[in-house]
Amino acid sequence: MPKQQLKKHTMEKGTQEPKKRAPRGKKEIITITGMRDILPQDQKYWQAAINSTHKIAADYGYGLIETPILEYTDLYVKSTGKGTDIVEKEMFAFMDQGGDHISVRPEGTPGVVRAYIQHGMINLPQPVKMYYIGPMFRHEKPQNGRYRQFFQSGFEAIGEAGPTLDAQLILMGYNIINDLGIDAVVQVNSIGCTVCREEYKKALLKYYKQHSKALCENCLTRMAKNPMRLLDCKEPSCEAIKENAPQILDYLDDECKKHFMKVLEYLDELNLPYALNPRIVRGLDYYNRTVFEYWAAEDLEGKTALGGGGRFDGLVEVMGGREKTPACGFSLGLDRVVSKIRESEVLMEEIYQPDIFLAQLGESAKKKALVLYEKLRKDFKMSQAFYKDSLKAQLEQANKLKVKYTLILGQKEVSDGTIMLRDMNGAVQEVIDFNKIEAELAKRLEKYSGDEGVAVIDTEETKAAMSSKKKHDYGDRVVEETNDFQDFGGGASFGGDDAAGDAPASGDY
Ligand code: AMP
Repeated sequence: MPKQQLKKHTMEKGTQEPKKRAPRGKKEIITITGMRDILPQDQKYWQAAINSTHKIAADYGYGLIETPILEYTDLYVKSTGKGTDIVEKEMFAFMDQGGDHISVRPEGTPGVVRAYIQHGMINLPQPVKMYYIGPMFRHEKPQNGRYRQFFQSGFEAIGEAGPTLDAQLILMGYNIINDLGIDAVVQVNSIGCTVCREEYKKALLKYYKQHSKALCENCLTRMAKNPMRLLDCKEPSCEAIKENAPQILDYLDDECKKHFMKVLEYLDELNLPYALNPRIVRGLDYYNRTVFEYWAAEDLEGKTALGGGGRFDGLVEVMGGREKTPACGFSLGLDRVVSKIRESEVLMEEIYQPDIFLAQLGESAKKKALVLYEKLRKDFKMSQAFYKDSLKAQLEQANKLKVKYTLILGQKEVSDGTIMLRDMNGAVQEVIDFNKIEAELAKRLEKYSGDEGVAVIDTEETKAAMSSKKKHDYGDRVVEETNDFQDFGGGASFGGDDAAGDAPASGDY
């Protein structure tokens, strides 16, 4: 394998995509166009979106399903639809070593429906309610909020036709977004059943034919292949034509109309912010009746919808399952949801935030600390830098991590059977019996949570210790002089270990 040089990339604020730079002599490997890394410091946003998905799934009784990322290409041709952009232009499709036509999944619904049929879930109590979270792949033109690898969380309920299910699914997607502090408006429409849609398509084509000269090239193709998608066009030249196009709601038959009215009635009852939007048609072949999208409140044209879904009553049958198996579902684009969370600047809990740092000085202390850490990590949120010998560097790291307490184990403590406990807020430290450290930590952390983070332990020893120490201001907290080794209970024996003080490690998040 040729030796490649990997370079550090400049990051744009708020994204994880490396800016492309002209190579300077050395070959560099960077991410594929439209694909990006999600770095540790961004995980808190992603975890929030994922946790919100899991919470709603549990609240409404949906079970997690994981389907393969690779499926037979036919799955998507049959379900998503031959004439759709996804299947026609965007799938990463290839022939594998065995000559099979394979595609990297562009969306989640077909895999879930295949699984429903393949595993005989028709025999379970209906509806079968499943959800997924994972990456999807589409070879689209990368732009703001549009990637070639993106993440979706999706919910599918198979085997129920009633409008309560539609309303509840709409509500669930809204709740996931809303619980994350994002202001969203649901856009709702009904595209009827195949019968009423045929009538509508005729009327739509008749209207568009009168305006064909002014249409964009894409719309001319849509007229031939997928007329419903004409209403999806965002080209300014087509917008005006779209304005006066016939509306599907006028073509719904009685059953479809009744179903849709019930959905809206439930949404009203739930006080859900929704807008009736006759332009929402969703691009895929399998949708019928209720269709919906989630738009951020400020995204008035739905240019970057946060998610969408609808009913797909015919899909199970098309894919070889039992006739007339109704279904409904939606998916959310997590990249866009995460970007909204980030914009909202809501304070996110740091997922790697430790409470306690365990520092050590001297070889025997290091060995004892290694063992102690194994005990403490089970009950406390811990951090350490055992690879560092400098106490100063360890304390600087503890300070950077904003831990509540630092435990310090030096040679003196090892021989005395004690350990130093330093309260990082008040910069107070005291000597604790080594065997009582777990109980002490538990007690103090409890006090912390009940006392808005202030836990100054004012014993005679610490008062005395404090009065003899120099202090450093580290921004939001004061830390005592750390190169006065006696402060850490180790006496002169610590000196050799605490040399110049290497820089705190940057790998801790
Ligand atoms: P769809 O499967 O096309 O109905 O998309 C559902 C949601 O997934 C959209 O509303 C977007 O939030 C998200 N999404 C779809 N395609 C992309 C993409 N290429 N990049 C990022 N998010 C996407």
